[in-house]
Amino acid sequence: MIAFDNVHKSFGRHEVLRGIDAEIAKGQVVCLIGPSGSGKSTLLRCVNGLEDYQRGRISIDGVVVDAASPDLHSICTRVSMVFQKFNLFPHRTALENVMEGPVYVLKEDRQEVRERAMALLNRVGLAEKTNSYPSSLSGGQQQRVAIARALAMRPQAILFDEPTSALDPEMVGEVLQVMRVLADEDMTMLVVTHEIQFAREVSDRVLFLDGGRIVEQGPAGEILRDPKHDRTRDFLRRVT
Ligand code: ADP
Ligand code: MG
Repeated sequence: MIAFDNVHKSFGRHEVLRGIDAEIAKGQVVCLIGPSGSGKSTLLRCVNGLEDYQRGRISIDGVVVDAASPDLHSICTRVSMVFQKFNLFPHRTALENVMEGPVYVLKEDRQEVRERAMALLNRVGLAEKTNSYPSSLSGGQQQRVAIARALAMRPQAILFDEPTSALDPEMVGEVLQVMRVLADEDMTMLVVTHEIQFAREVSDRVLFLDGGRIVEQGPAGEILRDPKHDRTRDFLRRVT
């Protein structure tokens, strides 16, 4: 579903991604872990066209993500992103936030989108909050709205960039639970996270990124139990 083939990305002279090779098959959940500054967010942003890259190739379901392509926009709407800081529109209700993309980007029928958005809010446990504004919702609720918004685009995959890092500890569980259900329903997911327990339980594979390179990858159980690299071992010691 998502393939990285020798992807290189620089900001000016600073090479941030140094030859990324990886594949995420349809229905797989892959967790991306690694120290701060290792390039995790940049890698995700390259997948949905928020950043361009200089060398190599990223493709989504066989279609190359290419900044120069006139189809970039439509390619990128196939993949939704959930951010650490939710990024909801503050002056729109939960329901309006979920409806925004399908109505204004995909130009879908408003009434139909509305029904779908209600169903999605119900699915993330927020049926009672459809008319609430983000400022009156807890962090966990806002992030669940953001996940409903991501789903409203009917994506082929969802990218999560540290979806629980900005949350108070007591709200982490409710967001991870929604993600667990998505994983069980075979949503294709690439998840940047420091939630090692989640990675262990839910993911098919873990990629460990360090200095713009994937230094280790494999089944979660294996990597987390018996990391081969010192860097991975150090990192895991710090986050667990
Ligand atoms: P991570 O998400 O793993 O913490 P990032 O992908 O955010 O890492 O950043 C990787 C490196 O790229 C860091 O050194 C960061 O400072 C740099 N970087 C990220 N975004 C930009 C940008 N827009 N301009 C210049 N440098 C950036
Ligand atoms: Mg980041």
